[in-house]
Amino acid sequence: MTFEKLNLIEPLLKALKEEGYTSPTPIQEQSIPILLQGKDLLGCAQTGTGKTAAFSLPILQKLYKTDHRKGIKALILTPTRELAIQIGESFEAYGKYTGLRYTVIFGGVGQKPQTDALRGGIQILVATPGRLIDLINQGFVSLKTLDFFVLDEADRMLDMGFIHDIKRILKLLPAKRQTLFFSATMPPEIEKLANSMLTHPEKVEV
Ligand code: AMP
Repeated sequence: MTFEKLNLIEPLLKALKEEGYTSPTPIQEQSIPILLQGKDLLGCAQTGTGKTAAFSLPILQKLYKTDHRKGIKALILTPTRELAIQIGESFEAYGKYTGLRYTVIFGGVGQKPQTDALRGGIQILVATPGRLIDLINQGFVSLKTLDFFVLDEADRMLDMGFIHDIKRILKLLPAKRQTLFFSATMPPEIEKLANSMLTHPEKVEV
């Protein structure tokens, strides 16, 4: 399998070549076609499987192909600062020829650089739940224009006590959106949360 065969566009193929990626990983091979079709996804995958590219490449492609109307189009919610930074670096690397803009927000640091970045205008926001809610409450973030919502590492989110934050954020999302849900494990509690936010999802397991 190749990234070309997955119908990725040239700006992404060029970036992947520069990253030294020669072929998609199993989660990428399975997820990219589903996501390019616009379907919701329930992904059972750990970090290290190539999950970040599996969701960021289709999001970049779909956003590149639509007009860059004002507002945040994609939100990636992740439990820790380290993961948020890593995901941001992935968007930076894969999206470098798309002209799309992203930023990363997380707690434990001053919010000024983050609010400055938001004011500059971005299409893709990578966030941890607490800081996102803070910045929403202060009026720095609106999710009304969102097309894509990714919940990353859902099982860790629940372990870390983020369930109420997630539910509050979910209430602010447009009903018409594409939702991607990733978790390394799928106990009943996680499955229930997934079912509450996904519409006819395709399931991918690696
Ligand atoms: P992730 O599971 O998203 O954290 O990715 C794990 C690591 O695999 C990261 O360092 C990626 O840069 C790398 N990676 C992801 N997809 C590929 C690929 N198709 N070929 C080679 N390396 C990859």
